[in-house]
Amino acid sequence: MNTESEKVKCLIIGSGPAGYTAAIYAARADMKPVLYQGLQPGGQLTITTEVENYPGYPKGTMGPAMMEDFKAQAERFGSDIRWGYATSVDFSAQPYKVIIDETTTILADTVIIATGASAKWLGLESEQRLNGFGVSACAVCDGFFFKGQDVAIVGAGDTAAEEATYLAKLCKKVYMIVRRDEMRASKAMVHRVLNTKNIEVLYNTQTKEVVGEKTVDGVIVFNPSTKEERKLDVTGFFVAIGHQPNTELFKGILDMDENGYLRTIPGTTKTNIEGVFAAGDVADHVYRQAVTAAGTGCMAAIDAERYLAAKGIH
Ligand code: NDP
Repeated sequence: MNTESEKVKCLIIGSGPAGYTAAIYAARADMKPVLYQGLQPGGQLTITTEVENYPGYPKGTMGPAMMEDFKAQAERFGSDIRWGYATSVDFSAQPYKVIIDETTTILADTVIIATGASAKWLGLESEQRLNGFGVSACAVCDGFFFKGQDVAIVGAGDTAAEEATYLAKLCKKVYMIVRRDEMRASKAMVHRVLNTKNIEVLYNTQTKEVVGEKTVDGVIVFNPSTKEERKLDVTGFFVAIGHQPNTELFKGILDMDENGYLRTIPGTTKTNIEGVFAAGDVADHVYRQAVTAAGTGCMAAIDAERYLAAKGIH
């Protein structure tokens, strides 16, 4: 372990819309923020294609390009953006201690947590064994590999609906595995799925196993009420069943809800520890949009700035 430590006024953990927006505001407020990007620089938007609902882009933009723009804007005002992953934290006394990659110690007057959320998995052994060999949680990243083939996607929310229609453009046939008799996705998305000819929605259907030795060559699904079981002859299996917040690091330290999302004081980004703020999907299971994440990133930087001013830290 490196015994050297570095002292900063504002440490931002995470590099999605929340983290970068916090950096833009903190840098412009002369807080000289240091931002660690985490395992997936740019966050979830780097694994999407087109973003059509972010204000200011009337023609839409690509997710990865948008995150490059966020980063460039944060750097323009002097944010120090670094590769690295927070591996432990100690918020028991000021300045707060955050260890990066198990080696670098950062001492911070304020910490903005913007670690986002990650894809959930079904939990099947075969799903994990074939992950990367036909199993994927990102249609946009991996759909291309299944061009002209038959694939299946599990999930019934907006993500699954969006990814199913994306896959339908590339693949011959898409089975959408829905565990209930209806989808959770918005009406517009359901409409789009049902009007895509090469998507077959299998309602009341659960995934029993992903079949294949080295790569996927099928998925066994069953209907619990009819007990009917069948094998879908697919070469790709996509999982789109939601996300979980990246809060493992803060267990037992910061207040969380029953699903592990950080709790903040309503109307603020303040956590239960003063000087520690949470922004973006890590504290939001309701809206989870780039624009709301950016909004709370802005709030976190302002909350941090006011905290420093109140403490007389310059
Ligand atoms: P959601 O939590 O909305 O949906 C998850 C889906 O996966 C549900 O249909 C759920 O089924 C299903 N599911 C969960 N666990 C299992 C399991 N073990 N087996 C089978 N199915 C399972 O997650 P999303 O990622 O779809 O969306 C998250 C949020 O992001 C939502 O608020 C959504 O509206 C938003 N979003 C918006 C978009 C847009 O506006 N363009 C695009 C994508 C997402 P069940 O319904 O039975 O619970």
